Amino acid sequence: MSLSEWLVKHLTYPAHEWLRRRPTLAYYREMLRLSNAPRDEVRGIARQRLRELLYFAVDKLPYYREQSDRRGLDPHAADPYAELAKLPVLEKADVRANLERLVCRDVPGGLIPCGSGGTTGDTLHFFIDRARQAQPLACRLFMQGLFGVRPGDRRVHLWGSPIESRGSWIKSRRDRLLNELLLDAFDLGPAALDRHLAAIRSFRPRLIYAYPTAAALLAKHAAERFTPRDFGWLRLVVLTGEEITPDQVTQVREAFGCAVAAEYGSREVGLIAHECPRGGLHIMSPHIHVEIVADGETVPVGQIGEVLCTTLTTRAQPPIRYRLGDVGALVSEPCACGLPFPRMRIEGGRTTGFVVLRDGRLCHGAVSSCVLREEPGIVEFKTIQRAVDRFEVLLVVDEHFDPAAVDRIQRRYRTLFGPRVQATCHIVERIPPDPSGKRRHVVSEVAPNYANFEVVRTLD
Ligand SMILES: [Zn+2]
Repeated sequence: MSLSEWLVKHLTYPAHEWLRRRPTLAYYREMLRLSNAPRDEVRGIARQRLRELLYFAVDKLPYYREQSDRRGLDPHAADPYAELAKLPVLEKADVRANLERLVCRDVPGGLIPCGSGGTTGDTLHFFIDRARQAQPLACRLFMQGLFGVRPGDRRVHLWGSPIESRGSWIKSRRDRLLNELLLDAFDLGPAALDRHLAAIRSFRPRLIYAYPTAAALLAKHAAERFTPRDFGWLRLVVLTGEEITPDQVTQVREAFGCAVAAEYGSREVGLIAHECPRGGLHIMSPHIHVEIVADGETVPVGQIGEVLCTTLTTRAQPPIRYRLGDVGALVSEPCACGLPFPRMRIEGGRTTGFVVLRDGRLCHGAVSSCVLREEPGIVEFKTIQRAVDRFEVLLVVDEHFDPAAVDRIQRRYRTLFGPRVQATCHIVERIPPDPSGKRRHVVSEVAPNYANFEVVRTLD
């Protein structure tokens, strides 16, 4: 460990988390301790946290008090899982319709507004608290540690919204203080990939964190110019945010010569599960309860169904039996790695395409959600790039949508993609799925077949 990495681990990072009043390091130490604890102890903690959550929800949140009265929920009952199953599945529409009745304003550090829609196409506005901010940070630090990446080690994020990546001077200074470097995943043309690789080789990170499509593109570019030995300092590439194909994993592993792990999470609930060095996708069970349901009924371990998540340690607006829209299954066999946290698997998932710009930039499609995420009242969207300078944006909206937003959206597209860009918004009743059944929210008729990505197709 270099001096700067030592300083970040022992000084800068703890100070940063303390200043932001986040329990990140306490959660991290707890995950470390529980990773060596018997399974029953981990189960016992999760069970107790679920019981406390149910008390809290019925006591403090009007939405759950009403549901509890209606459905005869008893937070004091012996089996909190049976009580949990009495509550309805929480849909995004329920969150939109009951925002005030799902929120507890009296949380340590206050409410933090948040929006989702990154790679899912369904936008949602909600609140989180410091505990919820700390959860993914702590669980990530713990899981990455299994691959030899320690707190304070250098990390590169190939990521970012236009706001985040072209962000303020303060943010880039802060990233440097924490040994982090943000590279713009919204610019992935050949020239940008050259710049990204040069930045990575000079920064020498232990970890790269990226969308699978963006990482695979970077890996292909790297393999044509370097050998894995040129990235000898790299320990791990974490892929997240969308469906991961075996080809992408192979491409990244072969180009960089390091481990590759999947992370599964969402902005609404935090980090749900993370792959271990033996390839098991472990649920962060002290913080998240995962249920699999089909036709409204919980299915046995091993069977496929829809993923519902209940966050156990957040209080601002705790999602309870929240439907993410993903399909998966719980896995019964323990993992060869010996971790006491249960496993799951995800079937398919979200995919995001690319858009191509006149100046040759190749943009990760999540840029589109950054344009739309800030507008209230957008329930779902799909962006179709018909030509280099022409976008069509399909929007499903509710009563909170402001018609003037259409102008703002068009202006934001021009700011991001160039003054000649036309973005036409269409309000629609519903967005039909792709013929393949995949949920793709950015479709380009222009983007060529880069790396192993499918050429994205039109709606009709
Ligand atoms: Zn494992």
